[in-house]
Amino acid sequence: MNKYTIKKFQEEYPDDDACLDKIYKLIYGNMTECPKCGSIKEFIRIKTRRCYQCRACYHQIYPTAGTVFHRTTTPLTYWFFAIFLFTVSKNGLSACELQRHLGVTYKTAFRMLKQIRMLISNDESIMKGVIELDEAYIGGKNKNRHKDKKVKNAQGRAYKDKSPVFGILERSEGGSSRVIAYTLRDVKAQTLQSVVYEKVAPGSAIMTDEWNAYTGLNKDYEHGICFHGRGNYVSGVNSEIYTNGLENFWSTVKRSINGSYVRVSPKYLQLYINEFVFRYNNRKSAEMFNDLINCLAF
Ligand SMILES: [Zn+2]
Repeated sequence: MNKYTIKKFQEEYPDDDACLDKIYKLIYGNMTECPKCGSIKEFIRIKTRRCYQCRACYHQIYPTAGTVFHRTTTPLTYWFFAIFLFTVSKNGLSACELQRHLGVTYKTAFRMLKQIRMLISNDESIMKGVIELDEAYIGGKNKNRHKDKKVKNAQGRAYKDKSPVFGILERSEGGSSRVIAYTLRDVKAQTLQSVVYEKVAPGSAIMTDEWNAYTGLNKDYEHGICFHGRGNYVSGVNSEIYTNGLENFWSTVKRSINGSYVRVSPKYLQLYINEFVFRYNNRKSAEMFNDLINCLAF
């Protein structure tokens, strides 16, 4: 449940100075002395530029340098408001919507959204315990085609103009499961399994569907397989065998990409996937705006 209201947002960030101060604090907040002369006096703000300066040696710091706000001519308040809108929109914010809200050009809105996605930093640490694995197919030009209809004569799960994505979900008893997800060039056993070995701790219980690319993982994992469409479940482990957590995640991603974003080029797909992983993993956060702005400190 979001508790970070627009009222709170406007109180905290009334102007560009407040935004710059926030960026400065996030990136240089732990700086105890001037990196150049060692003075422990606080830096002062140079009002005419996006700049802070050492009182002793006049060494200057530009906090937006190297961030997603680097060299932007768009006011920082616009950026912060865009981040606010991004975090309160449930299924994603489109460039058209942002263009309308800010009164900027479509090109600027599109670029801002790309930069905001680049700001996202997700927890991609090793997963362990009870894990769901599932692949999905996103994008493609033929929007009118049934979303899961296979392309004729294609082998296995190949979908002509869609991009394969692979997700891993770590279940949690408190219900705050975590997801990581990656675009892949294919869903062959070698490709999928190398991601599993890299991201899932050995000995974990993995839940998959019957896709044969998962065959053999039972050497290093407890492997539970659920058979879609048949309704019966084979149990090799104590935990319930299903991949519903990830299936829900993928349906949100597909709904958003088909609904708000309309079209996603394969090049940007990983950035979108990162966005939905972020939304999912922070879904119970009271202040998603701060979760995202805090990514500046990483
Ligand atoms: Zn100094």
